[in-house]
Amino acid sequence: MSTLEFRNVTKAYHIRGKRGQSGKLFAVNDVNFTLESGKTVALVGQSGSGKSTIAKLLLQLERPSSGQILLDGAPVKRHGAGLRDYRHNVQMVFQDPFASLNPYHSVAHHLARPLALHGRARGSAEIEAGVRQLLERVRLAPAAEIAAKHPHELSGGQRQRVAIARALAPEPTMLIADEPVSMLDVSIRLGILNLLAELQREDNLGVLYITHDLATARHFSDEILVMYKGEIVERGPADDVILNPQHEYTKKLAAAAPNPELRLKQIAGV
Ligand code: ADP
Ligand code: MG
Repeated sequence: MSTLEFRNVTKAYHIRGKRGQSGKLFAVNDVNFTLESGKTVALVGQSGSGKSTIAKLLLQLERPSSGQILLDGAPVKRHGAGLRDYRHNVQMVFQDPFASLNPYHSVAHHLARPLALHGRARGSAEIEAGVRQLLERVRLAPAAEIAAKHPHELSGGQRQRVAIARALAPEPTMLIADEPVSMLDVSIRLGILNLLAELQREDNLGVLYITHDLATARHFSDEILVMYKGEIVERGPADDVILNPQHEYTKKLAAAAPNPELRLKQIAGV
């Protein structure tokens, strides 16, 4: 079993006020949690609560001000082979499928690059087969036709499927999905979340599902972490957190969210 752990992680940004005075903003404040392979953890909280900062820290796009990030018990390396090894294991699906793909490159290029870079395929025949296989896994067909396309020829949902295929290319153990469906049309959201759940089971992935939607957090996760102003204010098994919220903020979130079954139907567009 693989684990990815946040241990007492804090990220403070230096900010400048309107009058030029400077201060510190604790985007993430003394946060602890562990992702395990085979499990989905939802990170919920309103906009500005620090969710994406956690994703950036996990992806090594930002460094903690203090605390540690550990993969399988070992602190992550920030350079060289250690960092490459970390990137094999921890992959990301971003919120915006329009911004996360390069308009100048074909779908095949987006997938061939990580396959080659991470040594998952060698030579053009192997790479071509790898690209085809990835497209099949995210249910994009016909694979050969899709592979030749450029991002502008795809719908938002198709682009997000390509982004998911790209994240799977290095054969990671952990997948971080930062609001993966919030920019997509309501009618296709559930299809993408169901796909992520299937891939998670097939590959025994550890998934961090970042969202502000309690209904899908409950449906797709084993555990829920509730974030408020940089801190995790409540956590537990998904049903417990939603049905029996303890913290004032979670109660407000749960009360503001309509009946979860109804919400899921709305998301599914039925
Ligand atoms: P969320 O993803 O939950 O909406 P973020 O993690 O993006 O929240 O942001 C958390 C807080 O940190 C916000 O107040 C945001 O303005 C601030 N923040 C994020 N990135 C930076 C940065 N690079 N510099 C200064 N403040 C930042
Ligand atoms: Mg965010």
